[in-house]
Amino acid sequence: MVCPFALSAPLVFFLSIAYHKKSKEINGEMFTEEPTIEEIDQRFLGLALREAEIAGEKGEVPIGAVVVLENKVIGRGHNQNKTLQDPTAHAEMIAITAACNRIGSRYLEDATLYVTVEPCAMCAGALVLARLRRLVYGADDPKAGACGSLLNLVQEPRLNHQVQVTGGVREAECAGLISDFFEKIRREQK
Ligand SMILES: [Zn+2]
Repeated sequence: MVCPFALSAPLVFFLSIAYHKKSKEINGEMFTEEPTIEEIDQRFLGLALREAEIAGEKGEVPIGAVVVLENKVIGRGHNQNKTLQDPTAHAEMIAITAACNRIGSRYLEDATLYVTVEPCAMCAGALVLARLRRLVYGADDPKAGACGSLLNLVQEPRLNHQVQVTGGVREAECAGLISDFFEKIRREQK
């Protein structure tokens, strides 16, 4: 007769492999099941929202961004137009520059940029130049959005790179931050 312990040891080994296959680390957090792309997007958009809140606390228009590569944040930024007196100091530009510095490359070909509001023409241009693979954003910007609203620079076929776009992730929270910010300014001006 075969000793039951001789059978249980390999069983435990294979079960542990099966468990490890099911668990996955996303930005330092363990998921027991393989997260869906929607869950990953919502999680990282949440980090962009945190950046947006930091901008708001400084009296800046609350927009935030993070750049993610292989499920790790490699760059983050929030709008700093007023602080730096610089019209180019948008969250996306700061996050892209930080990410390029971090990995020592001018291209971010396998990376995704998460931002709370649809990028403007300048930032959309930077996304193409950096060759970002994906853009995930929260709220549309009908007045200045250059990723599908006013125009679509990131998917312009005449340019040498096109970016995959997913919009409307955590849209209500992203748009709410902006509308609350401008409402507060209007109240203070009365
Ligand atoms: Zn911009």
